[in-house]
Amino acid sequence: MPIRVLTDEVASKIAAGEVIERPASVVKELIENAIDAGASSVAVQVRQGGRRLIRIADDGCGIPADEVELAFARHATSKLQTIEELSHIHTLGFRGEALASVAAVSQVTLLTRADGSEVGVRLRLEGGRVVRREEAGHPRGTTISVENLFYNVPARLKFLKRDTTERKHIDKLVTCYAMAYPQIRFSVENDGRLTFRSPGSGSLHDVLIEVYGLDNAQAMLEVGDREAQGAIQVWGYVSRPDTHRATREYITLFVNGRWITDRGLSFAVEQAYHTLLPVKRHPLAVIQVALPPEEVDVNVHPTKSEVKFQRRDAVFRAVQRAVRELLIAESPIPQVSRSAADWGAGGRAGWSERHGVLVGASAAQPAMNLVPERREGQAFLPEMPRPAEEKLPPLRVLGQLAQTYIIAEGPEGMYLVDQHAAHERVIYERLRAQQAQAKVPVQRLLEPLVVELTPGQAQELEAWLPSLLDLGIETEPFGGNTVLVRSVPAVLARVDIRQALTSMLDELAVGQEPMAEERDAWLAAAACKRGAVKAGQTLSMEEMRGLIDQLEGSVSPRTCPHGRPTMILLSQGWMEREFGRR
Ligand code: ADP
Ligand code: MG
Repeated sequence: MPIRVLTDEVASKIAAGEVIERPASVVKELIENAIDAGASSVAVQVRQGGRRLIRIADDGCGIPADEVELAFARHATSKLQTIEELSHIHTLGFRGEALASVAAVSQVTLLTRADGSEVGVRLRLEGGRVVRREEAGHPRGTTISVENLFYNVPARLKFLKRDTTERKHIDKLVTCYAMAYPQIRFSVENDGRLTFRSPGSGSLHDVLIEVYGLDNAQAMLEVGDREAQGAIQVWGYVSRPDTHRATREYITLFVNGRWITDRGLSFAVEQAYHTLLPVKRHPLAVIQVALPPEEVDVNVHPTKSEVKFQRRDAVFRAVQRAVRELLIAESPIPQVSRSAADWGAGGRAGWSERHGVLVGASAAQPAMNLVPERREGQAFLPEMPRPAEEKLPPLRVLGQLAQTYIIAEGPEGMYLVDQHAAHERVIYERLRAQQAQAKVPVQRLLEPLVVELTPGQAQELEAWLPSLLDLGIETEPFGGNTVLVRSVPAVLARVDIRQALTSMLDELAVGQEPMAEERDAWLAAAACKRGAVKAGQTLSMEEMRGLIDQLEGSVSPRTCPHGRPTMILLSQGWMEREFGRR
C-alpha cells in the first residue's frame, strides 16, 4: 500500500485511543479538568458503566463563552504556553488533548458559565464536530455530558468489559481523587443510585471512612507530616500490620496531587512492613508525596498515570522511612506468647462456649506456653504432608502451642495441627454437603443488623446476591449502600457478622471472578474462614480432641479449603537424626 497521510478523522480517533481507553479514562480527564478549574464540588453521574452516559458537573471557574469551541481543539490549553513551563507544571492537565479526544469518540454536550458572564453556553458535538451552539443558563461552573462512548469506534467498543467492571474502574478512580483532594466534595451516581460521597471537609480520614468503611479507617495510622520542612514531603494513612489484603490494589499513591501507579514506590511502602505482615499479604495505604515540580516529569505516559523522578532513590527512601518509623513507633509487633491472664478459666470464655460448634466444655485448661521459632529462623524442614486425600492416622492430643497449634502424637511422630486451618476444613466440608442438599442451617437474627457498605462492597453484594442467599445470608437494601442483614448461615452465627460480611465482600472484590459452578464453593470457603476458630484462641483439651476427631472424619483432612496445610509432621526418624540417635 502506498504511503498516505491519514484523514483528520482517522488521525483524531487514533490519537484519542491513546488517552481514552475506557469510560474511566473519560472520568479521569474530566475530573482533572474540574480540579484544575478550582472546583469545590464534583458530581459524577454514570449510566450503564459509562458507555451510555458520563456526566460531570463542577462549580469551578467555567469556560468563557468565546473559548468553548477552542477547548475542544487538539492541543488547545489554558494551562501552558511554553515548553519551559512544562518543567514546573502545577495543574493536572497540560496537553490540551483530553476534550478533543473525548469528543472525537462520543457525543458531547458542554454547559458552562464562566466567572463574570451573565449567561452560559451550551455546545453539542458529535464525533468531534460542533453540531449546535446556544445560550443557556447554568450556575458558575461546567457540566460535561459524554454520551455513547465509542459509538463511532466499533473496535474499541468490543473491548469494553461488563458494565459492573467498568463501573468498578470508575468508582476506584473517583474514590482515589476524593482521597487526594479531601477538600473537594465528590459524589458518584450509578444508574440513578448514589454510590459514593465524600464530605469535602478537608480531612483525609473522613474520606477514608467513606471509601474503606469505618472499621478499616479506624484501623489506619496517620503517617508523615504535611507541614514538614524539606524537599520531599510524605503524608497520608497506612494500615496497622494486623489489617491487610490479598493484593497490592489497596496501596494508593499520589505525587503532587496526581494519582499515579509506580511499582517501585508501592514496594517501598511494603518494604516498610518487612516481617510485620504475613506472607503474600499487603497493606492498605494512601500516600501523598509532594516535591518541587521540577523534580518530577509528568509527561512520560499518555494517560499521565506514571511519572519519572529526578531523584528516584531519595523519594523511595522518604516514603519508606516515613512508614517504617510510624509502624515501629505506633504498633507493637504481634506477640505469639500470651500473658498468664489469658490462660485458664479466669480468662476469656472458652471458645466452644462462644461458638457452640465442637464439644461442650468451656473451662480452658492451661496448655504449653511455648514461643514458636520465627519463620526466618526455621531450624528444621518439616516433612511434606501426605497427599490431601489420605486419611489421618489416629492422633492423641498432647496440648496447645501458642494458642494456635494443636500438638498431637501419631504413629509416625509428632504433629503440629493449625487449629484455624483444621477447623476451616471441618466446617467447610460440612457446609458444602449442606449446600449440595440445599439444606444450609440458617440463623435468623432477632433484630436485623444494619450494615453500611462501601460502594465497592455494595457492588459485590449485588453481584453475589443469589449465591449469598443460597448460603443463608439474607440481605435487604436499606437506602444508599446500607443493607439490612436478616439471616446468616449457622457457621457465622457467633462471629461479628458486620466484620465477616464486609471482609468477605472485600475478598470477593479483589479475587479472580470464579466460574459460575465454583461460586458456591468460593463463598463457602470465604464464610468458613470467618467462622472457624482463630489463631490466638485458647482451646480446652476436650475441644482439641473434638476438632481432631472431626478432622479425622474429613475427606481431605490435610489441607484447608484454601489449599494450605492443616498440619506438619515431625517424624520419629527426623527427631532421631537431629538428636544424634542414629
Ligand atoms: P488540558 O486540561 O490539558 O488543558 P483539556 O482538553 O482537558 O486540556 O481542556 C482544554 C481546556 O478547556 C483547558 O485548558 C481549560 O481551559 C478548559 N476546560 C476544560 N474543562 C474545564 C472545566 N471543567 N472547567 C473550566 N475549564 C475547563
Ligand atoms: Mg485536561
